[in-house]
Amino acid sequence: MKEASFNELEDEGALLVKVSVLASSSSGNSTLVATERTRLLVDAGLSRKETFERLNAAGTAPESLTAILVTHEHSDHIAGLHTIAKKLDIPIYVSRLTAPAIFGEGTQWAEQSYAPKLEMFAAGSCFTVGDIDVTSFTIPHDAADPVGFSFQAEGIKVGIATDLGYMPDSIRFHLRGCDLLLLESNHDLNMLKVGSYPWALKQRIMGRNGHLSNDVACSFIREDMDSRTSTLILGHLSAHNNHPVLVRQAAVEALGAKSTKLVVAEPAQPTETFHY
Ligand SMILES: [Zn+2]
Ligand SMILES: [Zn+2]
Repeated sequence: MKEASFNELEDEGALLVKVSVLASSSSGNSTLVATERTRLLVDAGLSRKETFERLNAAGTAPESLTAILVTHEHSDHIAGLHTIAKKLDIPIYVSRLTAPAIFGEGTQWAEQSYAPKLEMFAAGSCFTVGDIDVTSFTIPHDAADPVGFSFQAEGIKVGIATDLGYMPDSIRFHLRGCDLLLLESNHDLNMLKVGSYPWALKQRIMGRNGHLSNDVACSFIREDMDSRTSTLILGHLSAHNNHPVLVRQAAVEALGAKSTKLVVAEPAQPTETFHY
């Protein structure tokens, strides 16, 4: 059956909030969070071409984007930022301390002629873009000033938390009451330990400023995720130290009797588009 397009649903008055994870892995991250009036791209880790193709496939014209929000400066989150921002000339929301790491002196961006429209926020602050209320929260990760986001519009809450070494209580708090949650489930600890990565890199990934293991994601699902979360997307899977089947198995067990829809974001593919 053909999926109803954004506009068809909009005409029927059924659509409030739309989410599509265009990509979630160490080779590129980008997520669309949109209402009827406001369309946000969270991270721009794919090329402009790939991003635009995936947006179109999700029923959103790239030219209709309102703004880009950046979680942190790692290349899997900003590789396409310059070309996308230059083409669309829309604001980039970035934390005050992340901005110099992307746009400051000595960065690739500083050598470009296009001056971005920066909207800087303090990590931990809330702001509004169009009709979407955005909350930023600090995440433990080895970047300048990394953040996760939650979005609220039309009574719907969407949370995004990837690239975090562990789950501090503050993040558990911020992820409460999400209708849709994109959470990192980066690696299987055993695969990482016996795998071919150099020891220093293994230490980095396992460390408190690294990435979230399947075990930690599952303990969050068991202990903290509330019944309001109707869609859980597990993402940022390592291509080397994880497998979608393992992630699904562990998460199904952790979910137990919860009726949450579980989606495991395949490293190279966008998810379906979710409507609320
Ligand atoms: Zn990342
Ligand atoms: Zn990162």
